[in-house]
Amino acid sequence: MATNPNVNQNVKPHVLYAPLDFSAYEVEQTLPARFERLLDKSGLREIVNGKVTAIKMHVGRNAGFTTIHPLFVKILTDRLKAYGAEKLYITDQEIDSARARGYTEEFLGVPILDACGFTGKYFYEKQVDFQTFKNVDVAGYIHDAEVLIDLSHVKGHGCCGFGGAVKNIAMGCVTDRTRGQIHRLEGGIPWDESKCVHCDKCVASCNHGANSFDENGKYEVNFHHCTFCQHCVKVCPTGALSLDDSNFDWFQTGMALCTQSVLDTFAPNSAYYVNFLMNITAVCDCWGMSTPSLVPDIGVMASTDIVAVERASLDAIKVENFIRQGAPSGSELGATGHLLERLHGKNPFIQLDALEKLGLGRQEYELVTVR
Ligand code: SF4
Ligand code: SF4
Repeated sequence: MATNPNVNQNVKPHVLYAPLDFSAYEVEQTLPARFERLLDKSGLREIVNGKVTAIKMHVGRNAGFTTIHPLFVKILTDRLKAYGAEKLYITDQEIDSARARGYTEEFLGVPILDACGFTGKYFYEKQVDFQTFKNVDVAGYIHDAEVLIDLSHVKGHGCCGFGGAVKNIAMGCVTDRTRGQIHRLEGGIPWDESKCVHCDKCVASCNHGANSFDENGKYEVNFHHCTFCQHCVKVCPTGALSLDDSNFDWFQTGMALCTQSVLDTFAPNSAYYVNFLMNITAVCDCWGMSTPSLVPDIGVMASTDIVAVERASLDAIKVENFIRQGAPSGSELGATGHLLERLHGKNPFIQLDALEKLGLGRQEYELVTVR
């Protein structure tokens, strides 16, 4: 199925790019001004006019401070309203965290809704059939929208190397059950009892109450609730927990299938992708913390083609621009591949290959700079 009817094999999709370079200290040369001009060139007026429009973004958690700055979100909401969007809203999981980063209805002028409702039970179930991945529970407030604005903070991701527009949909527009099924494709979380010092850091790090020790001191994971986020693995001081990620390519294929299922709930030409390549950190915002940037800030990219915007974003994150303090001291990068593959050991292009095969877009693109 060609999910994206914009895919035209004869024409490279355009990726609009607002860069950061400037020749004078003028507001018009700054990223907010360029972002406004990028939106005005985007064709979004035709896409959102008269349509119920959802902005899906990650509002961050806990001590994270590197999600998209509220100023840019305000520019986007103001522009979309001016273009005629109906019933515009922002949606994400765990929206209680939004206010701490300045994402408020008072400032942004639009409601911020929990994607699956405040009970977490508002979703529409769809079926897929890939290994053990069977259920795509599309979040209710994603399903109900006529237009999706996929507003993503680009960063690394421990499970697939890269988190951008695809990750924002496949992990963010679905229920815990679907996230868990996709993560489970990676493998399991073996526990080495001989190394465990019972510090309980793994249990404290779990945002889903998925792990515990039984009365005999044996480690247990409730895989119904586990999203395979790896937080427990990363905080374990002794290496007692590890991730069996031998099937990480399945994980990326699962993300592509999930993305297709979510996008299939929208009519043709009803999704737009905006990637912020700012504060590009090593791991996902779901960690609830921020680390220094891996590379210098790059700017904003946007497109009607999800594959093209992801490819352009990955291409712009160059290994030669790596900033050492963006990775843990003492850690070593791999010798080959994309910077994010050297960091996480996962080829981030697998998800794009899978998306392209599903007909969701193209990895070839024409970069159109907007200054
Ligand atoms: S973090 Fe590691 S060492 Fe500590 S209790 Fe968990 S498995 Fe054991
Ligand atoms: S992988 Fe994540 S969700 Fe699963 S037990 Fe560990 S911390 Fe909890």
